[in-house]
Amino acid sequence: MTPLKTISIAEASSRHWDVIVIGAGPAGAVAAYQLGRSGLQALLIERKIFPRYKVCGGCLNQRAVNTLTEVGLGGVLDDLKAVPLDQFQIRYQGRELQIPLPGGLAVSRSALDVELTRMALESGVSFLSETAALVCGDSHPGQTRMVELFQQGALCGTARASVILVADGLGHPSLQNCEEFESVVSQDSRIGVGVLLPGGQIQDYPAGTIHMAIHKHGYVGLARVEEGQLNIAAAMDRSFIKQQQSPTGAVVRILQESGFPIPPAIGEQNLKGTIPLTRKTVRPVAHRLILVGDAAGYLEPFTGEGMSNAISEGIAAASILPRGLHDWEQSLEQEWLQVHQTLTMQRLHWCRWLAQLLRSPTAIGVGLRLFRWFPGIARPIVASLNH
Ligand SMILES: Cc1cc2nc3c(=O)[nH]c(=O)nc-3n(C[C@H](O)[C@H](O)[C@H](O)COP(=O)(O)OP(=O)(O)OC[C@H]3O[C@@H](n4cnc5c(N)ncnc54)[C@H](O)[C@@H]3O)c2cc1C
Repeated sequence: MTPLKTISIAEASSRHWDVIVIGAGPAGAVAAYQLGRSGLQALLIERKIFPRYKVCGGCLNQRAVNTLTEVGLGGVLDDLKAVPLDQFQIRYQGRELQIPLPGGLAVSRSALDVELTRMALESGVSFLSETAALVCGDSHPGQTRMVELFQQGALCGTARASVILVADGLGHPSLQNCEEFESVVSQDSRIGVGVLLPGGQIQDYPAGTIHMAIHKHGYVGLARVEEGQLNIAAAMDRSFIKQQQSPTGAVVRILQESGFPIPPAIGEQNLKGTIPLTRKTVRPVAHRLILVGDAAGYLEPFTGEGMSNAISEGIAAASILPRGLHDWEQSLEQEWLQVHQTLTMQRLHWCRWLAQLLRSPTAIGVGLRLFRWFPGIARPIVASLNH
């Protein structure tokens, strides 16, 4: 894999950018790609070195696949040999439910995020890797916003832009100096953990299905991605992980109790974790600043809504913000609030409902029975999450 070409801090600091995009996950990389295609001077900043592992189920729903294809990024999914999905298999205490999926693809985030970023660079965007950006708190209504740039924890420079797109994921770490974006974690918030296992020795878990083990203390999703690898991602109560003495112990317990086989060698893996997932949604816009994807609010994902929303918001923001480069008007902020509401908040309805259902053993039992007796009721829910 050819490494991504990055610019130096000195170069990043010496220019005035039209847009600085913070974070090269799906939201940031796709937004940057669109900005580059529009001919804007955009700088994409990523704190990690790519390829990097990211806790995620790796399942793109049909809406995400369609959106990527519409903007010319469908070829990335073909090149990566993303695995087509057609079934959602749920198990709870040995009971099973299968729901057909209207499409979707499974691909590892280590591979996907590199290729989306590569496409952004090909569209003319500059990339600053292994650099954490911190948005300066001062938001007086000037023409410019500024970020501080950190490498290995040390302040190395600053960069300026007309608009900043914050796509840095859960808890929007680049906004920690901006009081109005203070992140409030829910008391009962779960944390995410995950691992990508090499496919060689694993016989179970056929490709094409999202396998989901459900438990009152969390859920574990498993899906085959490219090259037969098995992607495992879980969201679990923090107290349960403590009780099981490790994230691996908690994942194994949920798989056992729901009736799924335990993938060989999982015990030898160091599962990666996230910060607490559920957070109070913040106002996703401020003066010359737009928040997209998980940075704007976390969406508990079931069949690939997280990346789908991140991608849609990235594209929408890239089409709106060029109008604010010179004169940033309040009406633009109102417009973004409206777009965010339509693209994301309405979808939260089903995700929140399902998340609550999955926290109550009685409700899970009743829900599974209902879905089994009346399979037709699952379809509109899955369809609404996929379109
Ligand atoms: C357990 C679990 C399973 C999931 N499964 C799925 C699934 O199957 N399908 C799905 O669609 N979604 C799933 N999601 C949700 C999905 O991972 C997110 O919704 C998605 O990654 C959001 O994309 P994003 O671009 O907004 O943020 P991210 O993907 O989090 O990307 C943010 C990027 O910003 C970088 N960054 C952070 N801070 C800074 C900084 N200060 N400066 C520079 N860079 C910075 C990070 O390194 C990262 O690369 C899952 C989530 C969890 C926790």
